[in-house]
Amino acid sequence: MNQEQAIIAQTEAVSARNYKPLPVVLHRGEGVWVWDVEGRRYLDCLSAYSSLNQGHRHPKIIQALYEQAERLTLTSRAFHNDRMGGFLELLCKTVGMEMALPMNTGAEAVETAVKAARKWGYTKKGVAPGKAEIIVCNQNFHGRTTTAVAMSSESGSREHFAPFTPGFVHVPFGDAAAMEAAITENTVAVLFEPIQGEAGIVIPPEGYLTAARRICTDNNVLFILDEIQTGFARTGHLLCHQHEPEAKPDMLILGKALGGGVYPVSAIATSREIMSVFQPGDHGSTFAGNPLASAVGAAAISVVLDEDLAERSRELGTRLMAGLRGIGSPIVTEIRGRGLFVGIEIDRPARPFCEALMQRGVLCKETHEHVIRLAPPLVIEAAEIDWLVEQFAAVL
Ligand SMILES: *Cc1c(COP(=O)(O)O)cnc(C)c1O
Repeated sequence: MNQEQAIIAQTEAVSARNYKPLPVVLHRGEGVWVWDVEGRRYLDCLSAYSSLNQGHRHPKIIQALYEQAERLTLTSRAFHNDRMGGFLELLCKTVGMEMALPMNTGAEAVETAVKAARKWGYTKKGVAPGKAEIIVCNQNFHGRTTTAVAMSSESGSREHFAPFTPGFVHVPFGDAAAMEAAITENTVAVLFEPIQGEAGIVIPPEGYLTAARRICTDNNVLFILDEIQTGFARTGHLLCHQHEPEAKPDMLILGKALGGGVYPVSAIATSREIMSVFQPGDHGSTFAGNPLASAVGAAAISVVLDEDLAERSRELGTRLMAGLRGIGSPIVTEIRGRGLFVGIEIDRPARPFCEALMQRGVLCKETHEHVIRLAPPLVIEAAEIDWLVEQFAAVL
C-alpha cells in the first residue's frame, strides 16, 4: 500500500460515506493548481464548488487571515468587534444592498433567508399565522440542513429524512407562468438559483429573472436569489442576476467565494426595511460575523473587485467554451455556460471521464450523472485554459 492508499483507507475507516471522492489525496494548493501527496500536480476545475474563485491561498486573503489571527479571532455577537462593520459595509456596497446579516455556511444563510421572508410575511404583509408559503424550483440545491432538504425535489436528498419543514411550493425552473400561477395570498417569497449549479449548470430562458422580478413586485412577494454558487464573479458578472439588468432581487443569499476558499463566510443582504424584521434574540450564530471571518470576507471581496475577476470570467469562459466546441466530439450532447461556469453534457456517465481527466492532471466532478462541471478558479490564465481544452480533447 502506498502513502495515498494508506490515507484513503484510514479516512474511509473512520469517516461517514456521505461523499464519494475521486481517489486523489491533496496536500498543497496554490492559485489554480493543487498537488497530491505523491507530488503530482492538477488543475483544480471544481474550485470547491466555486468557493475558490480567488484561487488557492490568495496572498492577500492569507495575509488578512494571519494579521487578524494575531489580534482577535472570536468575540461572539454578545460584544461588538472592530471588523464586522467594515466587512458588511463593503459587502453591501459591492452587491448594492443596504444591510447584511452574516452567517457561516451557505445552508445557514438559506435558513436565515427563509426566516426573514416568513417574518416579513407575518409582520409586514399580514399573512395569517403559520400559513406562509415560499415558492422554490424543482431540481434546486439550497444545502443539506433539514429545511434546505425540505426545499429540495431530489428524492436522493430527501429519502429517509422526513418529516420535512412545510411551507414550500415547487414549480418548474425557468417557467415564469408556473411561478405566477403558484402565487397565493400566503406567498411570502420566491426563492431560486439564477443558474442551477448542482442540477448540472441549468440556465433558465432569457428574461426569466426579469419576469420573476415583475411577478414578485406585482404580488407583494419577496424575490430572493440564492447566489451562493453563482456569486462573486463566477458567471462573468459580479452577481449572476446582473446578466438581466432589470432583475435586482429583494434579497441575496451569498456564501462560498465570500470566504475566499479560506474560511466559511456566508450572508444574506437585503434592504433596511426587510432586515428590520429581525429583533434581538430572534436569530443568531455563535461564530457568525467573527473578526477572523470578517477580515477574510473583506479581503475575499477586495480580490474579486481589484483583479476584475468578473471580466476574466467572461473572457476566459468564452475562450473555454469555444475551445471545447472546437473539439467536435460526437459523445458531447451540449456545452453550456456563463463565464467560467460551464457544463459539458455527454451521452453516457461522466464519472469515468472525470477519472481519466484526473490521470491527465485535471480535477473535476460529474454532476447529475451525465454532466461534467468546469468551474476553475477565476485567476486562471488563457494558456491554462488552452491546456485544459487539450486534456479534454484527449479524453473525449
Ligand atoms: C453550496 C450551496 C449551498 C449550501 O452551501 P453550504 O456552504 O454547503 O451549506 C446552497 N445553495 C447553493 C446554490 C449552493 O451552491
